[in-house]
Amino acid sequence: SPGSLESLVFDNRFIREMPADSETTNYCRQVTGACYSRVQPASLNKPELVACAREVAELLGLDEAACHTDSFTDVFSGNQLLPDMDPYALCYGGHQFGNWAGQLGDGRAINLGEVINQEGQRFTLQLKGAGKTPYSRSADGLAVLRSSVREFLCSEAMYHLGVPTTRALSLILSGEQVMRDMFYDGNAKPEPGAIVCRVAPSFTRFGSFQIFAARGENELLKQLADYTIKTDFPHLLPDAGEPDKAVYLAWFNEICRTTAEMVVHWTRGGFVHGVMNTDNMSILGLTIDYGPYGWLEDFDPDWTPNTTDAQGRRYRFGNQAKVAQWNLFQLANAIYSLVDEAEPLQQALSDYGHTYEQLSQRMMADKLGLNQYQPDTDDELCAELEAILQLVETDMTLFYRQLASIELDKNQPPEDRTAALQAAYYQPEQLTEDYQNRLNSWLDSYQKRVQQDGTADRERRTRMNKVNPKYVLRNYLAQLAIDKSEQGDHSLVSELLEVLRHPYDEQPDKQQFAEKRPEWARSRAGCSM
Ligand code: AMP
Ligand code: MG
Ligand code: MG
Repeated sequence: SPGSLESLVFDNRFIREMPADSETTNYCRQVTGACYSRVQPASLNKPELVACAREVAELLGLDEAACHTDSFTDVFSGNQLLPDMDPYALCYGGHQFGNWAGQLGDGRAINLGEVINQEGQRFTLQLKGAGKTPYSRSADGLAVLRSSVREFLCSEAMYHLGVPTTRALSLILSGEQVMRDMFYDGNAKPEPGAIVCRVAPSFTRFGSFQIFAARGENELLKQLADYTIKTDFPHLLPDAGEPDKAVYLAWFNEICRTTAEMVVHWTRGGFVHGVMNTDNMSILGLTIDYGPYGWLEDFDPDWTPNTTDAQGRRYRFGNQAKVAQWNLFQLANAIYSLVDEAEPLQQALSDYGHTYEQLSQRMMADKLGLNQYQPDTDDELCAELEAILQLVETDMTLFYRQLASIELDKNQPPEDRTAALQAAYYQPEQLTEDYQNRLNSWLDSYQKRVQQDGTADRERRTRMNKVNPKYVLRNYLAQLAIDKSEQGDHSLVSELLEVLRHPYDEQPDKQQFAEKRPEWARSRAGCSM
């Protein structure tokens, strides 16, 4: 019947068209001459549904009711395969923290197959945490509830914020315990295991191309590039033609653009990915692999949620645009044999810089509610705002929402304007007179600029509240949901999912999820593996 699991239409083009590993076992090995290995998910005794995302179900053509059946839980925990599923793990490589790491691959991800929905869109269904694959190296192929709640909620939160991302269909407890060394102190403890079903048109990464280039498997590289262009970038193909040099270049340029767009969205919302290794960079410019990510609380461009990156701070908030460019440079190197000319690739990389800057300017204009970004006035306006945000601990999310609420057209006295911003400060009692003066003179310039821009105040507010979310998945909120869920109460996971469906709406009865981080949660980073 329509909307049921049985109604899903599979078209497993990737494994049909791309070369497979010759073996179907899950022992760890170097897989050469192939893009993937067939695998079987681990079997489980008692999987249990924690939550599912109805919009993702809908996208696939599933009724919400179909998600609350035993067979759904069995299928999306990897316990039972639908007739047309043909599970596999991808081979890819990557640079981790700037160093070439060789073969990585889907060590704890198992793709079940590709579904074509009613609109003809293609989605790969991928289980994360369903057991070992040839790419698991020394690890167990499993995921814990903690990291799975974080991935599930954040994927969907990002989608509703309008940030390009992989999606999450379901979150299922495996019913088994997994050993994890939470703080890397050698004290491993058992934790509940879980499985997330991720959904995306493709899970191909920069590292998918890098591995073949590194091994000199240029034929395979070309095959994967051609497949990717044909499947995910069909608009770039000449009529009935095969990709040529110009197509590969157009493709690379598009990847540069979508990557820039993605990072600008991260900056807009205060999202820090935390592990921008090239194996975690989607060829589609989607946010992928929610590990130790985090959201800025106080505005600190140097903050990273990744506790293993504490020294280098390669993956700090303010460095994401640069690291993305570095990663694109690695991709350019990997596909060099297809283009065979350095100059246009270099040009694309430098265009990325311009694209990023232009998009950032547009984004800042939106955040401030302006019609237009005018470099001659707004470069300074934005730089000064960024400096002010760092003078005292200021919650970025709350600051922009409160800024929208100030009635600039009413010529309020300075005290009233700054009072509106109080909610954004972590130590409001510590604001000095110098600070207040600097903020006030910024507000004066801002007010003038808004007038000059010709934006009515109402319009400014509406515009700002469409791009500055009220609700983000604050690190401590995710942790509260995890703590409850580990006790068997999954209600906060569902409640947060519901709130985060409408991140820009006021939702007055959900105000508790829009408050700044409480003091007890101060030192808790986004750490989670
Ligand atoms: P990540 O840092 O999450 O991008 O992971 C880097 C690599 O380690 C990827 O190849 C993952 O598949 C692999 N990996 C991470 N965690 C596990 C795990 N628990 N079991 C097997 N492989 C893993
Ligand atoms: Mg990864
Ligand atoms: Mg990961």
